[in-house]
Amino acid sequence: MKKLEVGQIRKDFPILTRSVHGKPLIYLDNGATLQKPRAVLDALEQFYTHSNANVHRGVHFLSQVATEAYESVRMKVCRFIGTEDSSEIIFTKGTTDALNLLASSLGDWKIQPGDVIAVTRMEHHANFVPWQQLAKRKGADFRIIELDPDLRISESSLEEILALRPKVVALSLMSNVSGVITPAASIIARAKAAGAIVVADAAQAIAHQPIRISELGGVDFIAFSAHKIGGPTGVGVLWGKASLLNAMPPYQFGGDMISQVGDTETTWNTLPWKFEAGTPNFADVVGLGAAIDYLERLGMKAIQAYESELTKYTLAALNRVPGLKIFGPRNTESRGGVFSFALEGVHPHDLATFLDVQGIAVRAGHHCAQPLLKRIQQAATTRASLSFYNTEAEVDALTGALLQAQKYFSKKQEGPARVNNPPS
Ligand code: PMP
Repeated sequence: MKKLEVGQIRKDFPILTRSVHGKPLIYLDNGATLQKPRAVLDALEQFYTHSNANVHRGVHFLSQVATEAYESVRMKVCRFIGTEDSSEIIFTKGTTDALNLLASSLGDWKIQPGDVIAVTRMEHHANFVPWQQLAKRKGADFRIIELDPDLRISESSLEEILALRPKVVALSLMSNVSGVITPAASIIARAKAAGAIVVADAAQAIAHQPIRISELGGVDFIAFSAHKIGGPTGVGVLWGKASLLNAMPPYQFGGDMISQVGDTETTWNTLPWKFEAGTPNFADVVGLGAAIDYLERLGMKAIQAYESELTKYTLAALNRVPGLKIFGPRNTESRGGVFSFALEGVHPHDLATFLDVQGIAVRAGHHCAQPLLKRIQQAATTRASLSFYNTEAEVDALTGALLQAQKYFSKKQEGPARVNNPPS
């Protein structure tokens, strides 16, 4: 496996050369969205400049070029997630859209009053609320698989809920709050053995590890967003087993998703178009294709190996900051480079603002995971999330700034000072 040349890779990301508040940008908000490599920016410009036309609609040359560009990305996605049937790749607006599609279509088809629907407590709202609301709509029994003290899925809670033979189990492959990586293959295989349809939220995991459908314990669906892997916003992927997608009713109605429309009856298009009503976001799908090509050139295994070292380095560095509480595993076993923390006596938003003034972009808030925040009894945390273009020097800058923040805010408690004017 080749090693990443991070110095070279950084040159592929124009935004990483900019400064913020007069300081070089240190972008540690990759869990929210990844920056875009030049290859993606160029692909979008090229497409709009030379190939733009609506897809599936025209016999004219440009429409065929655009259709080919759009449809060819399905095979790239297949390759990227280790599967072969491109009719199982549905383009959506993103992870949230994909999961809403499922909760609606799968829910309408499969869920009866009293059925158990299970999610874990580490879910992003996108993989929690649609299932919770489906359960309410259908009179189903919504269950939450609890977490252990390290915020990993609790073995006993999992056992207990699988014993109820849930119809659906929806779980994240990696937490966007604690960085916990779910031991997906074994948990999914157990949920399948208990009779569940299993939905995996890969929104975080997809950026950090090779995803092979065949190694995910028989998973039925996975969802992810292009923007988390360097592609454009507004595009995502739902992969699902054709047998299930064929049996499910459509999610939305309109152009492209039909076969025949009569005055009183309509028949549906075949997969994948049955689930792609209206003009698809074809230009951004082309951008997604460029992002996949880019990541494959770097190699997902090489990315995983580099990030694993950087995660170890970061954890050791953060563990040395006195008064810093890290939520989630304090060792590197089964965790990725997402770190939620609290500095004693400092509000998470104040801390994020302090870091921002130094050019360090982190996120503060509930990270769209209030059920998990309730579990750790926090209204908000500050979160730093790594990617393959981050460096040990950037991590050093983060820990240095945290140490400064600690001094600054402890002085502030003694007398008035302004958070938007900390020492540089
Ligand atoms: N699930 C997880 C684990 C996430 O991190 C995110 C994005 N933060 C989502 C779902 C939702 O993704 P999107 O907003 O792109 O639909």
